[in-house]
Amino acid sequence: MTTQTPFAALGLAEPLLRAVADTGYEHPTPIQAQAIPQVIQGGDLLAAAQTGTGKTAGFTLPILHRLLTSPATTRKPGQPRVLILTPTRELTAQVEESVRTYGKHTSIRSMVMFGGVNINPQISSLRKPLDILVATPGRLLDHAQQKTVDLSGVEILVLDEADRMLDMGFIRDIRRILALLPKQRQNLLFSATFSDEIRALSKGVLNDPIEISVARRNTASELVAQSVVLTEQSHKRDLLSHIIRESGWHQVLVFTRTKHGANRLAEKLVKDGLSAAAIHGNKSQSARTRALAGFKDGQVAVLVATDIAARGIDIDQLPQVVNFELPNVPEDYVHRIGRTGRAGSPGAAISLVDASEIKLLTAIEKLIKRPIERKAVEGWSADMVKAEPSHPRDRDDDRPPRSGQSRRPSGQARNGARPAARGPESGRPRGDQPRSRSGNAARSASTSRSTGNERASTPARPRSPGGAHTGRAALLSK
Ligand code: AMP
Repeated sequence: MTTQTPFAALGLAEPLLRAVADTGYEHPTPIQAQAIPQVIQGGDLLAAAQTGTGKTAGFTLPILHRLLTSPATTRKPGQPRVLILTPTRELTAQVEESVRTYGKHTSIRSMVMFGGVNINPQISSLRKPLDILVATPGRLLDHAQQKTVDLSGVEILVLDEADRMLDMGFIRDIRRILALLPKQRQNLLFSATFSDEIRALSKGVLNDPIEISVARRNTASELVAQSVVLTEQSHKRDLLSHIIRESGWHQVLVFTRTKHGANRLAEKLVKDGLSAAAIHGNKSQSARTRALAGFKDGQVAVLVATDIAARGIDIDQLPQVVNFELPNVPEDYVHRIGRTGRAGSPGAAISLVDASEIKLLTAIEKLIKRPIERKAVEGWSADMVKAEPSHPRDRDDDRPPRSGQSRRPSGQARNGARPAARGPESGRPRGDQPRSRSGNAARSASTSRSTGNERASTPARPRSPGGAHTGRAALLSK
């Protein structure tokens, strides 16, 4: 995803080039190669770029350059020269982290500002001189009202992920903030999509901008191996546990539609012996930071997130994304799978889809202009669809399945019940499930392959013990 242009050719100041070299990046990404010279020249910019394209460095580097090359005569407390607005706290924190990373050989001072945390430490920070403020709109307006921040000295405004800000209803806040800024300033607007609303916003904000469009991350639909497992809502949680465990995934981001659903799913996965955590807007900031840090350093194998919370998760080369439920908006699917296969490395995205989501699936396939491969899961058979009993908990007994009964795969029990002793897991009490990050795939390498009665278009259900298979390579079969 990088270009052949060397960073040094973009005109960045030496301390910034040194910081870039420290990160190990060899070449700018296309958005960086196009945006950096334009921003250095002082022009306005309208950029179509999603997370994962390197857009953050695309604006932070030239902004730092401008600050370095036109130092302020006086730096006033609480009066930033640059204002970067983002939709979420996570993104705010990550953008500011980039500012620190690339500005580490300079004395430029940045600050992050978002809601949901005590305002007083932010007020204390604002009493010191400040160059770059990275903020979410709501909390910024709180400060503006309290006069703890002074936006009259803003020279550069960045609207990052502008489409998300509009989706989240920040348009009024943005307009109120714009009214507090000096008329004469440089403006940069980044958005994944260019809706009419974004066009309208950009007309009001930008002054003769150059437009840059880098390949939308729905090129992710080429990079990322995508598959769909058709199943029933009531089976999804067990199926997911099974897939994660047997695949030995150690860093998987799972999307749910609701915060409540995220919590419940994370709890269920933990009960199943997986290290999982949920991240969403209702959690305290410290809980979110903790969960994210655990996920980044590998202690948390499964992070369950809602779309909005996941926006801020910036992890390179996330290997696995699971759509526990399909998003209501097809574009969100592209955002979600864009979390994997980043920076040119391949990733995989699996969607668990029930009958009620088929319409959404069709809309997604229309958007990405290709069908998504249906896969069956070994050990989860489609051959008992019609025979499924109406009360799934009745199924966890020891009898071999007859017509009218189906069984969970080895190690998968509902309501804490143990399945019959069989296979390499037999006899291990439930609470004693391995908690290793890689699950138990290595131990349970039984090899009875599916006999091929799982048709690609039929939903996955717990399969009879005779066909249960737990080998990693054969877990997902066509
Ligand atoms: P972003 O689109 O800003 O969220 O960046 C996505 C990821 O790409 C970040 O984790 C960056 O660390 C990484 N990145 C940014 N610029 C480069 C580059 N020139 N070469 C390689 N990776 C980069």
